[in-house]
Amino acid sequence: MKYTAEEIRSALQNGELTAYYQPQYDTLTSQLKSAEALVRWIKKDGTVVSPFFFIPVAEESDLIMEIDWYVAELACKTLVKQNVMPQFPISVNFSRRHIQEKNFAEKLAALMDRYELPRPLMEVEITESAMVGNEANLLDWIVSIRNAGFSVAIDDFGSGLSSLQFVKDIPADVLKIDKSLLSHNCEDEKERIVLESIFTFAHRLHMKTVAEGVETKEQLGFLRSCDCIRIQGYLFARPMPEADYLSLCRGHCAVDEPTDILQMQSASSAIQLLMEAVFRRYPLVIFTNLSRNSYYMMAYDDFTRTSCPSAGIFDELIEHGTETMHPDDRAVFAETFSRQNIIAQYKNGAKTLRLITRQLGDDGIYRRVETVDYFVRSGSSPDILAITLCENLPDETDTQAAVSAIEADLKAICGSNLDAVMEVVRKRLNT
Ligand code: C2E
Ligand code: MG
Ligand code: MG
Repeated sequence: MKYTAEEIRSALQNGELTAYYQPQYDTLTSQLKSAEALVRWIKKDGTVVSPFFFIPVAEESDLIMEIDWYVAELACKTLVKQNVMPQFPISVNFSRRHIQEKNFAEKLAALMDRYELPRPLMEVEITESAMVGNEANLLDWIVSIRNAGFSVAIDDFGSGLSSLQFVKDIPADVLKIDKSLLSHNCEDEKERIVLESIFTFAHRLHMKTVAEGVETKEQLGFLRSCDCIRIQGYLFARPMPEADYLSLCRGHCAVDEPTDILQMQSASSAIQLLMEAVFRRYPLVIFTNLSRNSYYMMAYDDFTRTSCPSAGIFDELIEHGTETMHPDDRAVFAETFSRQNIIAQYKNGAKTLRLITRQLGDDGIYRRVETVDYFVRSGSSPDILAITLCENLPDETDTQAAVSAIEADLKAICGSNLDAVMEVVRKRLNT
């Protein structure tokens, strides 16, 4: 049954359109976190009409914009009713037509202000297909919404033909993975490979992930292993009327059990945490295959962003690294970390290889850097592998000052000749 624009318009005017809410849950803890507003047409006889039967018609004209703003306002009213309970953010679907709408972000901000609601409680969903052909305007549109304090989600990702190249440039907060990507119940090897890649891609671009249309335990299990952040689907809850959603929210605040994330996390998120600690101390980590003269580097430039890898030929990396060293340290650096020497050390039974040099930073200042190679093994390859951890050491002048202070203190206490002791101290501290 397809309705005409006039029928839909009068349904809107008669208040027959309303919002249902489908909750979204934390993938690991199964706790309620947010919801999506989905429009429904409740006819006078009580029949509930799915958006499938009227949204496509409404999208042919600006009628869709009226509907979307109407639903957004309903979502605000629902959020206000949550004032006495934890307010879970609500995402609202906005048609591609809004990309051309003047002052969209200001209008949304004014709506939230009218209801005295904090902006992070509203998320704007824009479907993936809206991107095609709208690239130039879309970027500005999304930036203006985010600058106004709202979150933006790309809906139905994977359902159309959008290119990864383009998505990578979209500054969205959330990627909603379309249910069509789960259609083989995550049991098909190829389906799993595609999903794993999408989640890795999204997380590396610092986007949150929501899987839509999750219906089975198998899907949930697999999505957990991909570190998917939120789940929306019939397995947990169907879209429901406002009253039901509000009572669900009420119930959820009562059973907000603290969960130990360490007991539930997947192996990959445990490694993520571990890497965070490693990067705290070692801003540069290099994986080297000495047998193949290749490397893979992870550099950590600030603690809020994750690693950015680069890969290449190991000999060239050392050549480049040598140039950044203090002229007096170049020869020893190049010699120590030549592949020939590292392999020879490995064959002699060395477990590590260590060197302190002075390296020129981007700011033109030399800093002491300790470079340590740890030989490691891979179960699936006989190649000689090493992991290099590079650490910035305290300033040499600081260390020298500390050594002089220690020397003075010791002389005051012992009064004897400390030259031999101090020589050992200096050697150990490499000053
Ligand atoms: P959507 O935004 O991708 O919303 C998700 C759709 O998947 C919803 O369909 C939801 O009921 C359905 N769904 C959720 N979990 C499951 C599941 O486990 N299995 C299956 N098979 N389906 C699930 P719904 O409510 O029929 O909405 C369909 C589409 O209509 C929405 O897709 C959205 O694109 C559009 N829509 C809904 N409300 C609005 C609105 O207010 N404005 C605009 N512009 N579009 C809307
Ligand atoms: Mg949606
Ligand atoms: Mg969707």
